[in-house]
Amino acid sequence: MSGIAVLGSANMDLVVRQERRVEPGETIFGSSFHAGPGGKGLNQAVAAARAGATVAFIGAVGADDFGVRLRSWLSAEGIDVGRVRIVDEPTGIAQITVTDDGENAIVVVAGANARSVLDDADRETIAAASHLVVQLERPESLLLEALAHARAHGVTTVVTPAPAHEGLDDILRLADVLVPNEGEAMLLSGEADAESAAVALSRLAGTVVLTRGRHGAIVARDGAVVTTVAAVATDVVDTTGAGDTFTGVLVAGLAAGDALDRALEAAAAAAAIAVSRRGAAEAMPTADEIAARLAGRSDATTSTPTD
Ligand code: ATP
Repeated sequence: MSGIAVLGSANMDLVVRQERRVEPGETIFGSSFHAGPGGKGLNQAVAAARAGATVAFIGAVGADDFGVRLRSWLSAEGIDVGRVRIVDEPTGIAQITVTDDGENAIVVVAGANARSVLDDADRETIAAASHLVVQLERPESLLLEALAHARAHGVTTVVTPAPAHEGLDDILRLADVLVPNEGEAMLLSGEADAESAAVALSRLAGTVVLTRGRHGAIVARDGAVVTTVAAVATDVVDTTGAGDTFTGVLVAGLAAGDALDRALEAAAAAAAIAVSRRGAAEAMPTADEIAARLAGRSDATTSTPTD
């Protein structure tokens, strides 16, 4: 395969909307419930596939109904699920509570995502790809092994350091492209502003693309800022998954041979479309929608949410 291998998490997101938080021991009625695909790995795989890339997903789900639904959902997106292993743990879930005051409370149970084995078929999939994309929702030992294997085979590595914590330098050094958001970059670098953080991280990783929400992104390399990317103005409905859309579409562009500037423009356009709709993976745009936004035809991006 010359395409993208995504090694990451796949979760079933269980979203309950309710008026207020629950007190210990209390039962209340919620106003709605939605179960949909989630996990940063799955999200980035979907973003890249919808943008036109050939994508193989290396992941793990349980032998349960959620696992069946996630696999078939990925397949329906045209993603190769041959390396999505069914393991003896429940499928990962994220229990997301949204209260009427707009606050989120999230509990993630990693379940099958905690599996840390990289087998020969996974290694072959990585070595055959042009790009390996990882996030930090799988065990770090697995990520280090996969990134080192990719590097040894000339595969470009792309890392989203989320959820971030200190002590990740070994992983950062194996990133050809590092895509942190502002908070992650400041935590990882110890710097107090975005530009200094991007510059500091680019001394460890290759190209750093630091995303800053509606303020766009800063790109740094070899200890200096090389360019900035403006966010694309839009009516914001739900920013969940903005970063995953940006990263998936950026890698799709790079894998197609686009120059970095062009791939970044497409990523910003795609993320703007995603934040104008409700949901994460379900809100991600197709290649046609991204092209239309880049051409300034905003009428092509007014489709309604799927839930
Ligand atoms: P999330 O955790 O919500 O997925 P993130 O924190 O990883 O997001 P952000 O830096 O918030 O990532 O956003 C990534 C990119 O998405 C930005 O660089 C920008 O291009 C786009 N984006 C995010 N928010 C907006 C917005 N309000 N308007 C337009 N574009 C946005």
